[in-house]
Amino acid sequence: MSSILPSSARITALDVLDVRFPTSEHLDGSDAMNPEPDYSAAYVVLRTDAGDGLEGHALAFTTGRGNDVQAAAIAALAPHVVGLSVEEVCADLGSFSRSLVHDPQLRWLGPEKGVIHMATGAVVNAAWDLAAKRAGKPVWRFLGEMSPEELVAQVDFRWLSDALTPEEALDILRRAESGRALRIGHLLDKGYPAYTTTPGWLGYSDEKLARLAREAVADGFTQIKLKVGASLEDDIRRMRTARETVGEGFRIAVDANQRWDVQDAIDWMRALAPYDPYWIEEPTSPDDILGHAAVRRAVGPIKVATGEHIANRVVFKQLLQAGAVDIVQIDSARVGGVNENIAILLLAAKFGIPVCPHAGGVGLCEMVQHLSMFDYVAVSGTIEDRVIEYVDHLHEHFVDPVRITDGHYLAPALPGLSAQMHPDSVKEYAYPDGPVWAARV
Ligand SMILES: [Mg+2]
Repeated sequence: MSSILPSSARITALDVLDVRFPTSEHLDGSDAMNPEPDYSAAYVVLRTDAGDGLEGHALAFTTGRGNDVQAAAIAALAPHVVGLSVEEVCADLGSFSRSLVHDPQLRWLGPEKGVIHMATGAVVNAAWDLAAKRAGKPVWRFLGEMSPEELVAQVDFRWLSDALTPEEALDILRRAESGRALRIGHLLDKGYPAYTTTPGWLGYSDEKLARLAREAVADGFTQIKLKVGASLEDDIRRMRTARETVGEGFRIAVDANQRWDVQDAIDWMRALAPYDPYWIEEPTSPDDILGHAAVRRAVGPIKVATGEHIANRVVFKQLLQAGAVDIVQIDSARVGGVNENIAILLLAAKFGIPVCPHAGGVGLCEMVQHLSMFDYVAVSGTIEDRVIEYVDHLHEHFVDPVRITDGHYLAPALPGLSAQMHPDSVKEYAYPDGPVWAARV
């Protein structure tokens, strides 16, 4: 497809739009650390003069006021993007992603962590969206049909080689090469397993929890998740309610959203253990590798999961090296985009740890499904004990929303990363001047 485009085509603009949803009004998304989130997107549009009508779309997810800062950080990357050759960027996204983390003045804000790194991730993901659209493929398939050598070239191995070398990565990818076609067929046929967090928000009543848990079982999910960590007494009651509703053996994960110190996490999980929680997610600070290892040693066989606030591939590397996690939870919009997530998928495969992505928010389900499906096709080669989080919020604002059937994500069919929003949604929820906000602030 790219051969018909003029080689002179350039990226002409990196637009950043502040889009916020007043989700705090219904306590959707409420957890022990985020009592009133307004789910928000710092939404990126890469425009070109290629004349093919294609744009690159992606977003950084935040929860309200942080969107001001996030949008400014993304805008600061524009000088590194505007004017670049569309063909050169799309042909070598590895070099493109590495170029964005090397600005010495912006690098001081990280390096490769926090707001500035999420900005990199949003821009890198928008470039992947554009490249996949030009190739006419959804990103999961665009990646899943690359050669092992092309995939290894996407990864920045700096700071990783003590745990994963390019040669080892190549071996992992070559081992998975033979079954690719079969697994693509399976995804097209059946999709990828999901679990749902919809029943478990902290602000919901016990009745609502039980009703939504019953619906989750009826809808074909094999796992639900409950938010915990505000009140032990409430959590014991909610966990008992959920267990009685879904029955023995059904997987119930719990998520503390970093609420506890290490010993609190251990004590709290021992109190919940009689109700057989499957994993404890974010028991403590996302930076505390040794703390996670201590919790894991103390609460087994309950599994320890984390990742949605893990800043970059180096912290994931250490969590794996330290034996601190049972489940790696990648996030499409936290680290430096598709490229860094390929590195994390390869690390998890090397250590034999399943990846169960974080999703929800705005557009996170849409984007991260591509990474899990790619992992299944070309990296780990398995869906055993792997599920993608699903939250039933805000999908209606996307042009290619996730489709869930019988507890599975159906494989996206449209080209790109599925992050493109409807123009009307962007206008209506624009902060602070869109009609939804003008009526409120
Ligand atoms: Mg979580």
